[in-house]
Amino acid sequence: MDTKVVFMNGKFIPASEAKVSVMTHGLSYGTGCFEGIRGYMADDKQQVYIFRAREHFERLHRSCRILNMELPYSVDELVELSTELIRHNEQHQDVYLRPFVFKADEIIGVRLHGLKDHITIYSVPMGNYIDTEKGLHCGVSSWRRIDDNMVPARAKISGGYINSAFAKSEAIQNGFDEAIMLTADGHVSEGSAENIFLVLNGELVTPPPSENILLGVTRDTVIELAQRELGRITRERSVDRTELYCAEEVFLCGTGAQITPVTMIDHRPIGSGKVGPISAEIQRIYFDVVRGRRPEYREEWCTPAYPKLASSSKPVSPQVEAQTA
Ligand code: PMP
Repeated sequence: MDTKVVFMNGKFIPASEAKVSVMTHGLSYGTGCFEGIRGYMADDKQQVYIFRAREHFERLHRSCRILNMELPYSVDELVELSTELIRHNEQHQDVYLRPFVFKADEIIGVRLHGLKDHITIYSVPMGNYIDTEKGLHCGVSSWRRIDDNMVPARAKISGGYINSAFAKSEAIQNGFDEAIMLTADGHVSEGSAENIFLVLNGELVTPPPSENILLGVTRDTVIELAQRELGRITRERSVDRTELYCAEEVFLCGTGAQITPVTMIDHRPIGSGKVGPISAEIQRIYFDVVRGRRPEYREEWCTPAYPKLASSSKPVSPQVEAQTA
């Protein structure tokens, strides 16, 4: 089995026991928040690096704050728990971690305050969420992005993902690969689970936080890598729908999507209609960085799940005594 144990409310328990009641508040009302974090196996297959775990857990703390939730673990503790989880599951492959904090009361009545919060983290093996090579055909969605005063997009709120689900299903059912959502006033916001970048007149451009985007960890990574590695400053500014059609390049980015070039939007080829050079370069650098191939980023961004081993040793499977704790 790929997932042996799950962290739930202070304990590592067998995955088969990590269950909630049908009466759970978070299940009925979407009153929860979560993260999606990737762990990448290193080239020598001896290590799994969790990418920017700290930043993901900082965002989880912010989501909890917005939802009136208590998260009784510090960022450092959550990072440590995540490495432990991968070791308990003996995962020596690319993985996806899903921390989830939710209102756990078994009551009827919608509200945020005065309820008890539960936390779980599970880890599952995961490859590509979408094809990162062929170039996507995206459609501008008829569903508008949720507004900060409706369901704040800067918090990764479970219930808010209904908005993404409407947009994604509409896109797929209409023959596209992914949706691009606009804000209520018609500016480009983001994909269903990705931030968006354009190359316009040679400049990297991305919508600012005020366009109801989730402030992506990958978005931040792209901005930093573009500056440090390519000497390109990203302009955070409002983007009109038709700028999408005029861009030389467009790509989506996110923990799941990684760096995914877009080559067609609403049946119009983007630039040459092939994956553009800046998107390809950023993608190449990103994959090197997340797999820990770049020492200058590894220390800060890549948390090793396993103790560092001498280069001749084989990966060690940890004791899993806590499985039944
Ligand atoms: N926007 C939305 C709506 C998302 O769900 C995600 C995925 N978490 C992103 C953007 C990208 O965020 P990140 O790079 O932190 O994964």
